[in-house]
Amino acid sequence: MSQFWSDIVNTLTPYVPGEQPQNRDYVKLNTNENPFGPSPKVIDAIDNFDRNLLKRYPDPQATLLRQSIADYYQMDLNQIFVGNGSDEVLAHSFFAFFKKAKPIVFPDITYSFYPVYANLYNIEAQEFSVEKDFSIDIKSITQDCDGIILPNPNAPTSKYLEPDQIRELLTLHANKVVIVDEAYIDFGGESAVSLVNEFDNLLVIQTFSKSRSLAGLRIGFAIGQAHLIEGLQRVKNSFNSYPIDQLAIVAGQAAMQDVTYFKSCCEHVIKTRDWTHKELEALGFECIKSKANFILAKPLKHDAEKVYLDLRENGVLVRYFKNSKISEFLRISIDTQENMQTLIDTLKRIL
Ligand SMILES: *Cc1c(COP(=O)(O)O)cnc(C)c1O
Repeated sequence: MSQFWSDIVNTLTPYVPGEQPQNRDYVKLNTNENPFGPSPKVIDAIDNFDRNLLKRYPDPQATLLRQSIADYYQMDLNQIFVGNGSDEVLAHSFFAFFKKAKPIVFPDITYSFYPVYANLYNIEAQEFSVEKDFSIDIKSITQDCDGIILPNPNAPTSKYLEPDQIRELLTLHANKVVIVDEAYIDFGGESAVSLVNEFDNLLVIQTFSKSRSLAGLRIGFAIGQAHLIEGLQRVKNSFNSYPIDQLAIVAGQAAMQDVTYFKSCCEHVIKTRDWTHKELEALGFECIKSKANFILAKPLKHDAEKVYLDLRENGVLVRYFKNSKISEFLRISIDTQENMQTLIDTLKRIL
């Protein structure tokens, strides 16, 4: 508390990210990073980066990077927006599309940054309930609202909606902006980008942090019809003209262009995820069938918080959401096969 804070700062409840320990070498399964590291082409682009460029401001439009995303998804350049991580893209989206008279809605179990943005921008938020098995029933979204946001697959449940269900959602709410946060779509789901040209109310948001192994570079993007992208540009250019630095532009472009490497990393993660699912079940966990690079798993005969703490004690970090609707579960990121084996071996010892 400080007498100098603005009124709004007094009311903020900031997001708390999963910890990034700096002192001990954990097997780190708590923030859904990708274990494989960036493509060798990204490393080349960074090695060959012209350091003289750093004295100049970057291209405020980040055109090379946006073009590489447009090429990958076969969209037009004016349908692509990029930001400093998808968290920034999400923040600008809340401001651009949701700061209106009526509330916005999102699932009652979802990415915990959404209520934080709503609070920051003073946007009223309402939740709709996910089903008992954590799936989302589109028809249960009946609130009178100005917009809808949901991750697909949902985080941290990993539950996935098929494009037909997204289509139904967009049709039922044709006069509201619907944001689909596809942070985990590349791990076995089908992107709603294919619906963008058909629906003027759809904004798809993705990130380089998970499937492209570049969480440290901070790149996220949105794909939507040009009028939505222009709305985002207006907010961005009223906030920070240069969210994407010179290095991120060239490294991000290289990542987007190396489709072979990207696909092979995703396939590895999927295979290891499905292996881990079976192993956890054999150890007495109930696992949600995941389409993401993490598994939500409930130890049936043990207290989840105790398992989390015991794992931590033994050098394995997973995510535990205390005081939440999933407090009986652990969220376990999928890492290399070797590290997942370590998780399983450690669980066998401590349970
Ligand atoms: C990780 C994550 C993001 C944020 O990604 P960044 O691009 O690293 O900011 C956004 N949404 C969801 C659902 C996520 O899990």
